[in-house]
Amino acid sequence: MADLSLFSNEQIAALLAALPDPAFILTRSGRYAALFGGTDTRYYHDGSSLVGKSLNDVLQPAKAAWFQAQIAIALASRGLHVVEYELAADDVKGVGGAGPMEAIWFEGRVQPLEHAVMGEDAVLWVASNITASKKLEGLLRMQSETDALSGLANRRKLMTSLTEHFELFARYKTPASVLIFDIDHFKIINDQHGHLAGDKAITVTADVCRRELRATDFPARLGGDEFVVLMPHTKGEMALPIAERLRLRIAEQTGATISGGLGEMTPGDLSYEDLLKRADDALYRAKRDGRNRIVRHQGA
Ligand code: GH3
Ligand code: MG
Repeated sequence: MADLSLFSNEQIAALLAALPDPAFILTRSGRYAALFGGTDTRYYHDGSSLVGKSLNDVLQPAKAAWFQAQIAIALASRGLHVVEYELAADDVKGVGGAGPMEAIWFEGRVQPLEHAVMGEDAVLWVASNITASKKLEGLLRMQSETDALSGLANRRKLMTSLTEHFELFARYKTPASVLIFDIDHFKIINDQHGHLAGDKAITVTADVCRRELRATDFPARLGGDEFVVLMPHTKGEMALPIAERLRLRIAEQTGATISGGLGEMTPGDLSYEDLLKRADDALYRAKRDGRNRIVRHQGA
């Protein structure tokens, strides 16, 4: 504890006012009893107009209810309660004002107070602007799930989606099909026209996938010239014409043909690996039977 005898009341007030992050005193019923600090104008609007108002005066009803619930949780827990939330400038009436401002992410540290304020239980709510790290987090997540060349989902993201859809199938028998396809004689494209031409064939193939497939279908690049399309809610006989259309469009757009293997989730599968194995076996047969074709795996 600080030795408060070192400071006059005015100095203590000045110290609180100097805190870079805003610290609100909020009562259980949602009244802004006081605001200290918030001097870092890079991150914060002047919130002084909030004092004397209630959450419901300044926030949309759903947001106000959420704040009030967090206050109740902090008070019930009798300890620090940490939350994250997003506020647009126009979410808070009377703060910010001029023009649209992009949403700001906050970390709120909500500490119950030992004493009553305005006759109510109250908390100290310190808000810290975490927008920069939130944005970075989003960017890193996106990058960790995206194949840099094609912009499609990468292998890691595909495996996550396959796991989710396998669980849906295991629980609700929701069908799903998987197409694995591979560009035919891709090495020849690279060797005859150069690596950049090979890359171009990969990006055009990805463009065709994005254009031709339903929004719910999930194309991914497995690596090299190998792609996978997960088709949720799609049985094998429905997936076959989709795969055939893709094969024709890719040939039209890239000049290269593809071979594909198609499989669907089947009772008895222990994981999506079983399905991938069947689709891969069918792809192998498509290659062996002369390429430029889709083979559907029959049976389990
Ligand atoms: P097949 O019809 O049997 O599939 O013959 P293929 O020549 O396509 O053989 P394979 O699929 O094994 O060849 C894949 C080649 O793709 C080998 C590798 O050099 C090349 N490759 C892998 N990744 C990339 C890439 O990102 N860009 C380019 N340009 N080439 C790649
Ligand atoms: Mg190939």
